[in-house]
Amino acid sequence: MTDVADLKKILGRAQVENLGIYVHVPFCRVRCRFCAFYMEGLREDRVQAFMDGLAHELRLYARTLGLRKVPVHTIYFGGGTPTTLAPRQLARILHDIRYWFAVEDDAEISIEVHPGTVSPDGLGSLRQSGFTRLSVGAQSFDRNELRGLGGRAYGAEVRQAVSWAQAAGFTNISLDLMYGFPGQSMESWQRTLDEALALSPTHLSCYAYTLEEGSPFHREMMQGKGSAPDQEFQLVLEEQAVDRLIPAGFERYEISNYCRAGYACRHNMRYWRVLPYLGLGPSAQSALGHVRFGNMADLESYADFLKRGTLPLDEVTSLSPDQVEREHMVWGLRMLSGVPVRVPVRMTATEQNAPLLQTICQLGEQGLLQVDKQERVRLTDLGMRFVDTVAVALL
Ligand code: SF4
Repeated sequence: MTDVADLKKILGRAQVENLGIYVHVPFCRVRCRFCAFYMEGLREDRVQAFMDGLAHELRLYARTLGLRKVPVHTIYFGGGTPTTLAPRQLARILHDIRYWFAVEDDAEISIEVHPGTVSPDGLGSLRQSGFTRLSVGAQSFDRNELRGLGGRAYGAEVRQAVSWAQAAGFTNISLDLMYGFPGQSMESWQRTLDEALALSPTHLSCYAYTLEEGSPFHREMMQGKGSAPDQEFQLVLEEQAVDRLIPAGFERYEISNYCRAGYACRHNMRYWRVLPYLGLGPSAQSALGHVRFGNMADLESYADFLKRGTLPLDEVTSLSPDQVEREHMVWGLRMLSGVPVRVPVRMTATEQNAPLLQTICQLGEQGLLQVDKQERVRLTDLGMRFVDTVAVALL
């Protein structure tokens, strides 16, 4: 078991000059059929254990790991469903983070919102306590599709939540959409995109459906029901999204993310640029310097360890400089602006090149990567279709 002293030793002299903080709220009302995230049913004693654990965890990181008053640029409450907690509980967590860290005045503070768990007053309280950005889980606007996905809010609830949020003063609202899941058609995806745009969001995340091990859909498939995602069809739907969103004034800045100018998600950009972030709550992941670590995906153990003054970590990995460089490439290539790397003209690999450069050149020769005039390496259109293959080759 790694405690805070071990973690300190592993971190060594790694400097943490600023941070993004992720808070994983593990509660959901019901499990959506496509989801395999760690979650717990909402219960008062569990919420108390979570709140107490989080308070201990913040104190441990700030005091013992020396992160006290480190500037925080972004905070992201995800889950689970953060809005299953009462606004005053969410405000309390934010207050504690502000107490221990130096949250910047213009910090981006996002929260994932399930439309069925918010009210006009609740959204007003969130805005007042300092949340600046909402990420609303819509997935689809088709009632039958939503019924099939399980646990989702219907279009009317999404529209209502967005209008309440706008009335509460939120000007930065993202919608999560999903495409390529069982039963979806090109027509219904087009309608979903149109309905989403009609709500004037500043940001849209369009995720391809994946069959996650441990999800209800996966279990059904193992029993011979249901089918695997049709990747060719997903590519058609992805192109449909690009064709609809770009003329509507959105920029595709990451494989699955589109924004209006100036509204890229600053917190997620930290992940893709591998800037330091601290994950709090059960199953949350962190990256500080060359060290990657993650919390146990179990609320009871998480709370027990913290009560005893020990970090609830279940894995700690110290990366070599080469691994850090490779990780930067893999995450950075998800952004359409690419990664700055000096590569030989025409990306021809030679034996004198360092191994990572050789791999980049080989991927260039296969038409998966290209280099632009600013010496930034990017995925080609073909590379975007085979982003997982590129990642495996680079790691
Ligand atoms: S998709 Fe979100 S709301 Fe649905 S079960 Fe998973 S974490 Fe909960």
